[in-house]
Amino acid sequence: MNYKLDTLCVQAGYKPQTGEARIPPIAQSTTFFYGDTKAMADLFDLKADGYFYSRLANPTVAAFEGKVAALEDGVCAIACASGMSATSLSVFTVAGAGDNILSSHAVYGGTYNLFSTTLPKLGIECRFFDPDAPKEEIEKLIDDRTKMIFTETVANPSIIILDFDKIADIAKKHNVLFAVDNTLATPVLCQPKKFGANLVIHSSSKYLDGHAAALGGVIVDLGNFNYKNNPRYTSFNEPDESYHGLVYADLAVPFGTKCRAQMMRDFGAIMSPQNGFISFIGCDTLALRMERHSSNAQKVAKYLKNHPKIEWVKHASLEDNKYHALAQKYMPNGQGGMLSFGIKGSVEKCATFMESLKLITQETHVADVRSCVLHPASTTHRQLSEEDLKNAGVPHNLIRLSVGIENPDDIIADIEQALQNV
Ligand code: PLP
Repeated sequence: MNYKLDTLCVQAGYKPQTGEARIPPIAQSTTFFYGDTKAMADLFDLKADGYFYSRLANPTVAAFEGKVAALEDGVCAIACASGMSATSLSVFTVAGAGDNILSSHAVYGGTYNLFSTTLPKLGIECRFFDPDAPKEEIEKLIDDRTKMIFTETVANPSIIILDFDKIADIAKKHNVLFAVDNTLATPVLCQPKKFGANLVIHSSSKYLDGHAAALGGVIVDLGNFNYKNNPRYTSFNEPDESYHGLVYADLAVPFGTKCRAQMMRDFGAIMSPQNGFISFIGCDTLALRMERHSSNAQKVAKYLKNHPKIEWVKHASLEDNKYHALAQKYMPNGQGGMLSFGIKGSVEKCATFMESLKLITQETHVADVRSCVLHPASTTHRQLSEEDLKNAGVPHNLIRLSVGIENPDDIIADIEQALQNV
């Protein structure tokens, strides 16, 4: 039965047997009992599915993984301790020293730091590109050691909407893995698989949990990339000596298996059972929440656009927004709750505005039920140079507003009274 996405939000990932708990119990246990040596050996040999140690897999976390895999139409999901660990492990699964990846320069600040500073220290080069650049310019960056093209559906905080067709064409032509961080769109508003992506990454700390209660990340293998005899992916075609000579390309789920069996085993950045539970029940209401986040943000964006103290507003629902057409193509049912705007005048006015807010709070967070604001240039993007700030689309007067699911009139009234002090 092919259920619709809002049904999957509520029902996917866990099906109890008679007499079992209706929602996934929290399996707060590092390890699992076996009375049979052969059964345990089969688990280690990947001949059977099951749980033996929560650094690799845990039933509560598996329920959440199953739900996200269903929502993204993937073949396997791996839940991680945070969005950053999900991004890191996704890269390490395909790339090692001497390799390179391509990344849009309009990505979350933490991802930018990982790619620009930490990966090069490990011998992995990141070649950044402008997501709005023509195909030929991006393509030029690819060589035979390129292992991934990394992008964000809705870039944080520049709110650039990804041109999926352009990147998918490049990735297909060169047989390179196309990875998309789908955190701010969520599968409810955009399913990257429909537009040619091979891998989806989430910071589940955002909309999937939705309540600012649990840190987490997810990697979803969409099962549509060929590793077998692909010369770019030798590590999938050679025996893994650390796993009894396993050849990942021969398996039904090459990326997902390598990521868990090798990378999660070695880095141990797994989601905790408690966070798996919170994230699982968070997703129950994802479809409802995304509808409300999107409609609230659209109303707030329209209001800000007509305000004399506002210099500019970015939200792809606005008809004159540069990315409106792309948003209509890839996420027509709502453009999410994130918007950004610039206050006219000096940068100090940003602080006056934010400190005057009464309902909306200042937070280093986005994408949960409560509306919040942040000044990226002095916080999340503080480490970035002037040039990097420009590339990331973060001017000094940019205020990022994550519109929550409160009554939209109350959100607008709070902004109105705060702007009176500016
Ligand atoms: N990706 C995006 C788009 C984000 O906004 C964030 C965090 O804000 C991350 C990844 C990193 O996720 P986490 O904070 O869960 O490590």
